[in-house]
Amino acid sequence: MTFTLTIDEPRWDASVRTAAEQFPTVVPVIKGNGYGFGRERLARMSTRLGVDTVAVGTEAEIASVREGFDGTIVVLAPLTQEELNRLHPTTGRVIRTVAQADVVHRLAEPNSPDLEVILELDSPVHRHGVQLAELAELAAPLSSVRLAGIAMHLPSTGDRAHAVKSVHTALYELRRARVEFDTLWVSHLNARELRELGEAEPRLTVRPRVGTGLWLADRSTFTVTGTVLDARPVPHREAVGYRQRRLHGGTLVVVTGGTAHGVGLQGSSARGGLKDVLKGALMGAAHGVGWTPSPFRWAGKRLHYADVVHMQVSMLIVPAGVNPPAVGERLNCDVRMTISTFDEVVVSPALPGQEFAPGATFPAAS
Ligand SMILES: *Cc1c(COP(=O)(O)O)cnc(C)c1O
Repeated sequence: MTFTLTIDEPRWDASVRTAAEQFPTVVPVIKGNGYGFGRERLARMSTRLGVDTVAVGTEAEIASVREGFDGTIVVLAPLTQEELNRLHPTTGRVIRTVAQADVVHRLAEPNSPDLEVILELDSPVHRHGVQLAELAELAAPLSSVRLAGIAMHLPSTGDRAHAVKSVHTALYELRRARVEFDTLWVSHLNARELRELGEAEPRLTVRPRVGTGLWLADRSTFTVTGTVLDARPVPHREAVGYRQRRLHGGTLVVVTGGTAHGVGLQGSSARGGLKDVLKGALMGAAHGVGWTPSPFRWAGKRLHYADVVHMQVSMLIVPAGVNPPAVGERLNCDVRMTISTFDEVVVSPALPGQEFAPGATFPAAS
């Protein structure tokens, strides 16, 4: 009974390499659930890519990545005063991020831990970072810490000119404050923006930190499937599920993949947004069925939920008149990889794919 990720390894490998070639000094980001692939797998892939540096989200993620990668590990989460008091031992070169002025001052004290750090500046995202107005005061303490560069975490969409301009403004203010640095670690600049920045700043080493654009560059190189555990006919108006909704009849399919796997935590993943969920709910309501389209597909169309998503399985309805899947058959599932957990990862050439037109759903039987 497994919710399975199947990776077509040669093609996935090639897609990651092709993406990496667009960013010559790329720093692969390996955090959270490892973008669905697992952090260890991404660490080993980074070794195969031959990069010198990767980034993890938190200190707790260092150990798992170190198992597959010997190079430099940058921790993206800013170091706090509290963490400075209980640093965990690490092996190899680890660079921490500092995003608060008081932490910079503390690191500059003579008996503070000897850490190599990146100074993160506030950006249009406004998640973390010291203010540009604080730089003048920080230049002196920064001169006595091991500074591996400056970081900026930028928006991924929206006003690009504004995002790029924020980088140039920051570089200007850093120089005006006489902060010495030679590397800029940036997130979410595209290949063209990086090239233009490189041309404008030939003496600066620019290190793009990329996760999604690398690991999930080509979604056709992996498949997620649930396994059908049960498929039984239900008569018209039979009440089913926790919620005892009355369906119009058809075949009730129980498939692996529930909230514990990340299923049902979103409407319909990569392909759809909130709009699709709402549309589905409205459509369902209009048909008197009430449940939204699920991320599971059968015969190239999306199946509707027959109930709220359970912890490890989903209950789906195949409308009357449609040939239902048999027990043991696999249904493709369009998950959001960054929130998904799998029972099993199979590395193989791709499963024979079912043709799927995004948006196609089996209408609720009536
Ligand atoms: C997660 C993260 C990234 C990678 O983001 P993607 O959108 O997955 O490429 C880059 N920089 C920082 C600071 C992050 O937290």
